[in-house]
Amino acid sequence: MSTSAGPPVLDFPIHGFCGHCGKRPDPEGPAQRVCPSCQLGLVIGAPESVAPRQGEAFLVVDGKLQICAVSRGAEKVLGAAETEVVNQTLTDVLLPADAEAAGIESLVSTIVHAARGEGAARSLVVRPAGEWGIRWFARVGPCGAPSAALLVLALGG
Ligand SMILES: [Zn+2]
Repeated sequence: MSTSAGPPVLDFPIHGFCGHCGKRPDPEGPAQRVCPSCQLGLVIGAPESVAPRQGEAFLVVDGKLQICAVSRGAEKVLGAAETEVVNQTLTDVLLPADAEAAGIESLVSTIVHAARGEGAARSLVVRPAGEWGIRWFARVGPCGAPSAALLVLALGG
């Protein structure tokens, strides 16, 4: 607590989790690229403040706003299979909950910054594209590798 390390940019404690089922691999076990639990997702890492907790729905988005991975939970929430959503542009799937034009710009800039590995978790309020009356709180932060943005949906709130 008394040490004053410089502002951490990429120097955050990383927590590994599966990009498909969200399960965190056993920290005692060998480092694995593919999730030992579901055998379907790749293990990716994110800061503790952003990394999904058990059962949370999340998406991984690259710096061009292209969706790279969709968790099993997010498939349910979005009502679409991962194969339908991957490679789509994030804004075709999720939009800022407020209708202001600035909302999209701020969503895009938050994602782009996180995908570069910058900054800590940020909060957003989003809705599914094409649907009104639904609001999801989301937190966004860096994840990797490769370097991308992690968007975790906080549901049931
Ligand atoms: Zn898994």
